[in-house]
Amino acid sequence: MSEFSKKENMNQSKSKVEISENSEHTESQKKGDSFVFKGYTGKYLDINLTNREIKVMNLPDDWPKKYIGGIGFGIKTAWDNIPKGVDSLSPENVISFWTGPFAGTLVPVSSKYTAVAKSPLTDSIGFGIASGYFGAELKRAGYDGIVIRGRADKLVYLFIDDDVIQIKDASHLKGKTTWETEDLIKKEQQDESVRVASIGSAGEKLVRYACITNAKNRHVGRNGLGCVMGSKNLKAIALRGTKEVKVADLKILLKEVKQLYKDCRGPKMYYGREGTPIKILVHNKRAVLATKNFRQMTFEGAEKVSGERMMKEKVRKLLACEMCAVACDHVNVIYEGEYKGTVGSVDFESLWALGPLCGVDNLDAITKAVELCDTLGTDTLSTGGVIAWAMECYEKGIFSKQDTDGLDLKFGNHRAMVELVRRIGERDGKFATMLGEGSKRAALQTGKNTIKFAMQIKGLETSAYPFRPMQTGALGHATCITGAFYQRSGSYQYDEKDTFDRFSLDDKRGKPVADGEDDYTLVDSLIICKFSRRIYTDKEKVAELWYWVTGEKLKYADLLERGRRIYTLGKCFNVRHGLTRKDDYLPARAYEEPLNDHINKNAVVKMNEWDIALDSYYKYRGWDMKTSIPTKKTLKELDLNDAADELGV
Ligand code: SF4
Repeated sequence: MSEFSKKENMNQSKSKVEISENSEHTESQKKGDSFVFKGYTGKYLDINLTNREIKVMNLPDDWPKKYIGGIGFGIKTAWDNIPKGVDSLSPENVISFWTGPFAGTLVPVSSKYTAVAKSPLTDSIGFGIASGYFGAELKRAGYDGIVIRGRADKLVYLFIDDDVIQIKDASHLKGKTTWETEDLIKKEQQDESVRVASIGSAGEKLVRYACITNAKNRHVGRNGLGCVMGSKNLKAIALRGTKEVKVADLKILLKEVKQLYKDCRGPKMYYGREGTPIKILVHNKRAVLATKNFRQMTFEGAEKVSGERMMKEKVRKLLACEMCAVACDHVNVIYEGEYKGTVGSVDFESLWALGPLCGVDNLDAITKAVELCDTLGTDTLSTGGVIAWAMECYEKGIFSKQDTDGLDLKFGNHRAMVELVRRIGERDGKFATMLGEGSKRAALQTGKNTIKFAMQIKGLETSAYPFRPMQTGALGHATCITGAFYQRSGSYQYDEKDTFDRFSLDDKRGKPVADGEDDYTLVDSLIICKFSRRIYTDKEKVAELWYWVTGEKLKYADLLERGRRIYTLGKCFNVRHGLTRKDDYLPARAYEEPLNDHINKNAVVKMNEWDIALDSYYKYRGWDMKTSIPTKKTLKELDLNDAADELGV
């Protein structure tokens, strides 16, 4: 066991900024010419699991001003530490965990954290945001983030108890589910309030879309960050934090957040307490409920798996994150039938991916599949996407029952779907092991042109917003630096609101997509819950919050510029690792197979329109249209000179 005490090792700090043991560095103060921000602790941990070296580092002074926090700090860490050619599963990959400046303060819906690394699924920058209590606890322990390098020689977990940091043996946790791991660590520490983020067997066995779970059903879900933890033999991070997080103006913050909390309970909040599952029927009515691996856009079993039915018959508990008055987490409990005893937290995306996408109309089975994903530790979206691809292969006769290790993998077979979720999470059998590689790798291994209907971009299985009838959304999925995900730009909302013709593309789409990316990057760097975005109808309120917390006065546009810098640096990371314009295209199905139903009459993405829209995006961003690489002018404007030098632009 390695143990670190701050008192003994503070002089290991390597930052240029020297902070003495007695510095009150969360105080707003001038140090030379540099402004020190409140809201941050000013420290992060840098831990090398190979040699068990633990350092407390000073946060570089200019990071809040340039990269805000959250994914901003994560992308900057990845850029500084993961050189070209690094294998995402090697000890040289670096995974970092970061909070935003609002975590641990009174600002509502801000207790989240992010994990960032090179993704084993996409080989691009990978990150996810998790809710719960972990982020705020990390801040209270005295750290803005944790950077993890190397690989432990055996399974370990990290226990951070304010200033005491231990690398502990985790051999007794090997093979345990995320839920068991959390319970066992709490028991070991004799403290129910310890916060735990862990991986299940999927992460340990390197399923490429393994997630990191905290508070049992909150996850860093996308991009396989749990797989990176597994590759480092890091089973869990546990935290206990007891310190105060200081803000610049507590008095005014206390007064102003009262209204925000009221708004969290009111109609401004996205979905409110009904939760996202109500989107099933909305999407079905609009014929955008991607069904049976995106081959049809309405689902005959939609009523059976509707959010309304789920709320009435299955939901038994609503859970909230720290500092949230919404409680959006809907926990289903199954009391009878073949899935009796199942407990699963089911949101719209999970409900869709393990339901209509696989043709499954059994709510109990979907809840069971979600429970298995949560406990074994796989991303529900990728799990559903991979299984839907395998079901189509089976239906087309590309896979026989022998290939699937005996599973009758036809669409709608809920028992086969649930069993396959378990096998993937445990890497049980040859077929499930192949599926654990993700749909892109599995399709390339299978051949027979099955890549054509692997519904992924850059290797990431896509989310619930289909490309052909939501084409501005499709552009946002394709330009997304982490692969096909709707939460990096929100561009699908233009299709929901019919801002543009949703069945075609033109040169007007690049700007809204890029603006959405910058906006969402800002939100994910501050880390405030996206469900709260309607509360901030006046965007300057966000800049005011920033001022009351950090002490820096600025305009929303200034924060947005930082969002643009962060997103562009993420793009530079991808360029460093070989991704270019060719990686910003949709799966062939979107261009080649027109939809044919009463609403989506012959809807298809036209390649010539796609190229025009993509050009408009690169042009607006100031990226080279041929290669998609940011130009020297753009990088210099954003003060990313080192990126310009490295990329040779
Ligand atoms: S709205 Fe939901 S995800 Fe967002 S902070 Fe509240 S409980 Fe957490």
